[in-house]
Amino acid sequence: MPLTHQLVPERPFTLQTLPTEGKQFHPDRAAAESEFKSLRKEFIEYQRRLYAEGKQKLLIVLQAMDAGGKDGTIRNILKGVNPQGVRVESFKVPSKRELAHDFLWRIHKVVPAKGMIGVFNRSHYEDVLVVRVHDIVPEAVWRPRYEQINQFEKLLHDTGTRILKFYLHISLNEQKERFQARLDELDKNWKFSLEDLEKRKFWPNYMAAYEEMLQQCTTPWAPWHVIPANQKWYRNLTIMRTIVHTLREMNPQYPEAEDNLDQVVIE
Ligand code: ATP
Ligand code: MG
Repeated sequence: MPLTHQLVPERPFTLQTLPTEGKQFHPDRAAAESEFKSLRKEFIEYQRRLYAEGKQKLLIVLQAMDAGGKDGTIRNILKGVNPQGVRVESFKVPSKRELAHDFLWRIHKVVPAKGMIGVFNRSHYEDVLVVRVHDIVPEAVWRPRYEQINQFEKLLHDTGTRILKFYLHISLNEQKERFQARLDELDKNWKFSLEDLEKRKFWPNYMAAYEEMLQQCTTPWAPWHVIPANQKWYRNLTIMRTIVHTLREMNPQYPEAEDNLDQVVIE
């Protein structure tokens, strides 16, 4: 199962040439949805084993522009998974207390423990994206963060955490359509924010920030996957394929039973 959308360290690319349309890779939506469902069953079984084994950790990082599909991905991927073994963390504008520490402080506190799967809805990468685009700190502060992030992720990797990073790549036009749906459909109104329209004006700046971040922070221990995300069904499938592929490699095992269980009698 080749991981088509994984970046290779040091290999140059431009974000503009990476696809946002998934349907060219998989023309049959119905087949994709059924493959997704069977992979999800496999994922659920692996998660049980990972939890029971209690040794390894999996961290899934999701980054995207607004309306890029982070919420939908989390909803679809985690459906049916034992909630005790997963922890979803959303990173919003940092609080005063968080800002009084280094940028990784709030992140490190919530990385997955042994046996757990952690999902980051936004992440430490905001500190080289939104922060850069809107000049929240000077370049002399954000530029060294690429290396600081790489070293932080190396520490996690070296201490038993597999890291999967997904950038959900949508086109400018797809974002427009999704914003429009949020305006038109009453039950999506709550998701619409005028602030998102302001950020949309900075699209080229965001793309430049994403591109450099993807280049600087694709390492052998934590490469980025750039997912064509205009079609939600393809996005879900390719992320699920990557997760299951990774769990197969991690190969968690149920622990051995205690000795002589066959002689135990419950009175
Ligand atoms: P949705 O996509 O469903 O709207 P969201 O993740 O955008 O959810 P919001 O509360 O709308 O949630 O926005 C969170 C905001 O916090 C984003 O605009 C994001 O860029 C910002 N943010 C996250 N981390 C940082 C950071 N370290 N510094 C500054 N802003 C940040
Ligand atoms: Mg938002």
